[in-house]
Amino acid sequence: TYLIAQPCVDVKDRACVEECPVDCIYEGRRALYIHPDECVDCGACEPVCPVEAIFYEDDTPPEWAGYRAANAEFFDEL
Ligand code: SF4
Repeated sequence: TYLIAQPCVDVKDRACVEECPVDCIYEGRRALYIHPDECVDCGACEPVCPVEAIFYEDDTPPEWAGYRAANAEFFDEL
């Protein structure tokens, strides 16, 4: 799955939402979130993000590794 990290916070450009073929990017209060079970790993969202907030999960910079848990938490609360 792909993961949206810190640069998205308070930006929420939504270019990725337009690009995602399976509509698995959801809007939270301060950031956008990719549903880990719905993402088909197509990679289409990554290059269109103007703030480079999207990473293939395993390639997420270590300082933002915590966003994996924050992402899971977001979907637990839906
Ligand atoms: Fe959607 Fe593809 Fe990005 Fe996954 S990798 S969130 S399926 S655009």
